[in-house]
Amino acid sequence: MNLLIMGLPGAGKGTQAAKMVEQFNLIHISTGDMFRAAMANQTEMGKLAKSYIDAGNLVPDEVTNGIVKERLAQADIAENGFLLDGYPRTIEQAQALDKTLLELGLTLDGVINIEIDPSILVDRLSGRYMCRACGATYHKVFNPTKVENVCDTCGASEFYQREDDKPETVKNRLEVNIAQGEPIIAHYRELGLVSAIEGDQEIANVFADIEKAVDSIK
Ligand code: ADP
Ligand code: AMP
Repeated sequence: MNLLIMGLPGAGKGTQAAKMVEQFNLIHISTGDMFRAAMANQTEMGKLAKSYIDAGNLVPDEVTNGIVKERLAQADIAENGFLLDGYPRTIEQAQALDKTLLELGLTLDGVINIEIDPSILVDRLSGRYMCRACGATYHKVFNPTKVENVCDTCGASEFYQREDDKPETVKNRLEVNIAQGEPIIAHYRELGLVSAIEGDQEIANVFADIEKAVDSIK
């Protein structure tokens, strides 16, 4: 099964994707995670991406399309299926994805779209913190670690706030993503692939709704 998870920054894509890949045994491909890894390793691509990410802008399509295509072409994807998170984010990326899937003989089975009122996203993003070791995502108020300062996933105890979650960047990120997002959803709606999920509810309840949607896609 091959799925996309979509939604504005802070909608809960990464949180739900972590649960989905475990439950449905899919390979998680997050372009944001790939860029953060490249930035941490200070690769050429990471250095280029950083200038866009820190300003809350999108990394150019040709770079993003390239890394996704390269990852989708690896053998484990055809064997297990994928969950793409944070991609596509422009209509050009959606068109590039259609082409890549066709070339690789893969089919998209469904799009999970987490719907949310943008007004609550500033609180979500400003309280988000991440495990430095494994990238697991938490929230100061809504989803703290079970044991203070210990990652639930890997046990590490170093956390950080994403540079692009600072208030001055969040506004631009939301504007950019709102402007680009609607035509993409319209594209997948036309193909009858979209399941709408209410994002403004407890994390466990969002996941329960996603499970129902995925069960009907299978
Ligand atoms: P995205 O990947 O869509 O940008 P995240 O999954 O990182 O979003 O979630 C953004 C922030 O909101 C994180 O701090 C996360 O812990 C928190 N969060 C995720 N889902 C919910 C929810 N349903 N209710 C409250 N907070 C949530
Ligand atoms: P995310 O972790 O999905 O919130 O992504 C963090 C940042 O990485 C975004 O604000 C963009 O700057 C960049 N990024 C992630 N995915 C994409 C994409 N599909 N296209 C362009 N830029 C992206």
